[in-house]
Amino acid sequence: ESLDKGLEKTKTSFFGQLSKAVVGKSTVDVEVLDELEEILVHADVGVETTVKIIDRIEKRVARDKYVSTSELDRILREEIAALLEENRAGDGANFDLPAGIKPYVIMVVGVNGVGKTTTIGKLAAQFHKAGKKVVLGAADTFRAAAVDQLIIWGERVGVPVISHGMNTDPASVAYDAVKKGVDTGADVVIIDTAGRLHNKVGLMNELSKIKRVMQKITVDTPHEVLLVLDGSTGQNALIQAREFTKATDVTALAITKLDGTAKGGVVIGISDEFKIPVKYIGVGEKIEDLQLFDKHQFVESFFS
Ligand code: GDP
Repeated sequence: ESLDKGLEKTKTSFFGQLSKAVVGKSTVDVEVLDELEEILVHADVGVETTVKIIDRIEKRVARDKYVSTSELDRILREEIAALLEENRAGDGANFDLPAGIKPYVIMVVGVNGVGKTTTIGKLAAQFHKAGKKVVLGAADTFRAAAVDQLIIWGERVGVPVISHGMNTDPASVAYDAVKKGVDTGADVVIIDTAGRLHNKVGLMNELSKIKRVMQKITVDTPHEVLLVLDGSTGQNALIQAREFTKATDVTALAITKLDGTAKGGVVIGISDEFKIPVKYIGVGEKIEDLQLFDKHQFVESFFS
């Protein structure tokens, strides 16, 4: 239900336009497809992914000769679902931690303002609620606010935060957080990192240094590199995803702020382009507004 509410703006704008596109038309023809293409691009699905979706529908129209506009809704839904099925969006997303890895180390990356700290706080709360022992690492030492905010989240949730304050070495904070996780038998360690996208080489060096130092404790850390993207920035989120996936091995995505935006289609474009599982979506500021991404549910709420 909160997913439906969260995606309301995307839905309303999308639907308004979709019904306008088919007004007075009984069959799906080139004109309707052109309109649909525009609507999908407008919903921030992204040009490449939109072309793919339109191609798929065109093939169906060519095969079935006549497709009624009253079926467009269903066909579009099926084709988007099929596209999400082909990539790994939302595959098996859950708040469980893999057995046999302790602590499970999540390194969280993303530019400032996308909701990185909030997402970490919400994740910590979910794991804590599930009875997991959590340690947070405030390795976004570039901004005082980021460190303070993470400490506030730690207090609110009731989990320890490792911090050396502002302008300290992020890799050293990450090291100490993982060390604390190992020493205290924590289940999960979540590391916040600086969101500077100053230049690609700088970012790459910074993230690989953090990894290298953590790996002195456990060679296979981090087990997850979670990239947080702000869905309300639409195509900017796609551009950031390109930068970060070039700079480091991103293994999972969180797309935030899908409430209050009509750009929810970006989730479809991002999962299609990167084939990296979208694991979480943010649909509000409350703890329970960080949801596991379920592709079927997502497509349904986009359309229902
Ligand atoms: P950071 O700079 O990436 O760490 O970003 P923050 O975690 O500080 O978040 C920036 C702002 O976005 C804060 O006001 C958050 O409350 C807000 N925010 C984060 N996630 C969501 C979301 O899913 N929906 C909404 N509406 N706001 C969010």
